Amino acid sequence: MRPQALVRGRLASTVATVAATRQVTPRMMSVRLADESLAGVAAVPGQTLKIYVPDLVSGFLVSRDYTVRDYAAAGHPADDHESVTPRLDIDVVLHGEGPAATWARRVRPGETLEFVGPSGRYRPDPYADWHLFAGDETALPAIQAYVAMLPADACALLYLEIPDTTEQQPMPGVAHPTVCWLHRGEEEPGTSTVLDDALRAVRLPPGQGRIWIAGHTPTVRRLRAYLVGERGIDRRALYVKGFWDRQQAVDTITAP
Ligand SMILES: Cc1cc2nc3c(=O)[nH]c(=O)nc-3n(C[C@H](O)[C@H](O)[C@H](O)COP(=O)(O)OP(=O)(O)OC[C@H]3O[C@@H](n4cnc5c(N)ncnc54)[C@H](O)[C@@H]3O)c2cc1C
Repeated sequence: MRPQALVRGRLASTVATVAATRQVTPRMMSVRLADESLAGVAAVPGQTLKIYVPDLVSGFLVSRDYTVRDYAAAGHPADDHESVTPRLDIDVVLHGEGPAATWARRVRPGETLEFVGPSGRYRPDPYADWHLFAGDETALPAIQAYVAMLPADACALLYLEIPDTTEQQPMPGVAHPTVCWLHRGEEEPGTSTVLDDALRAVRLPPGQGRIWIAGHTPTVRRLRAYLVGERGIDRRALYVKGFWDRQQAVDTITAP
């Protein structure tokens, strides 16, 4: 079947049906899309989608960025000859009253989601001696996707800021990762220094490593300045991306 594509500005968008939602942790909702329209999307986990969700205050659609957590094109399971509908998963942090968080809380199977993408070319460097991934809960889907791409014997250090133990998730992919769950407790997201403190204390392994950091924008910018300025990390070994900021909700307002 031909992918269902609309044109939003100059970018073709895809409309897909929500097949299921799953509460992964108290503050993380997984939304599974399953639709023939996803067959041509060719997403790679870790890439970004720009999803369009309703802003219940203004009544307009707004765009928000989310990571492809998992993707499967149509196929046949080994033990079954029935074809499988293409599917794509995103994991959404239920942080508060933002349009995307509200949508993830309320969306039901059978509803549709429009998105543009995927975009993004980042992949873990297969030749690196070690990999350090750090971020808050918004970065978890991307970190899970990238860790799953590493060889089982890779040296992976993970520094993950979350509220408390209830938000911890399995980190499959590498046989023996060093996983540091950093609990900010009652502190508001974006106000804690647990990630700073952990990275200031970290002893990096020998050899040529790669560092990937994402999450609260001022926090990750501060970490980049520290790693480059005080630890002498080569900028080419460092990928830093701000995922959200308290002052700044970046809206693309479009006609409903
Ligand atoms: C490339 C990229 C990939 C991303 N992938 C994911 C992902 O896979 N999963 C995911 O959950 N998020 C992801 N994010 C972050 C997500 O886009 C933002 O958190 C987004 O602002 C949420 O939209 P919203 O409509 O819920 O809230 P908004 O309307 O954007 O914000 C409403 C208020 O909530 C605050 N806020 C926004 N996000 C958070 C938060 N996480 N915690 C606390 N306060 C917040 C804002 O500062 C604002 O004050 C990604 C961002 C980028 C740039």
